Amino acid sequence: MSTENFPLTKPDSEWQAALTPEQFRVLRQHGTERAGTSPLNAEKRQGEFLCAACEQALFDSSTKYESGSGWPSFYAPKEGAVGTTEDRSMGMRRVEVHCARCGGHLGHVFPDGPKPTGLRFCMNGAALKFKPV
Ligand SMILES: [Zn+2]
Repeated sequence: MSTENFPLTKPDSEWQAALTPEQFRVLRQHGTERAGTSPLNAEKRQGEFLCAACEQALFDSSTKYESGSGWPSFYAPKEGAVGTTEDRSMGMRRVEVHCARCGGHLGHVFPDGPKPTGLRFCMNGAALKFKPV
């Protein structure tokens, strides 16, 4: 995990009590859900995608698109909602994306997304909660 100080910090025992085992594995232990398993892949309603741990609004539904990856994908986060760190695990150089409020791991960002940003925020559905408008 990143060593930054986040506005919201809690001991792992509290996160574990508040989250499902899959949410805890992804958000707090840097896990990755199996592709194609999140119901949020097919979520097409208007609304906001919140951090499943702290409920900060991370993405607007207008930036969601179908990337074909099997993970919910967005081309832009809400301003200031996420932070990034370089991830050199698994023999790859990737850019890790986390919630700017609680530091929870969300997924990775890749430079092969659609316009206008050209970015693909490849998120774990387990790290997100959908709130329809
Ligand atoms: Zn959060």
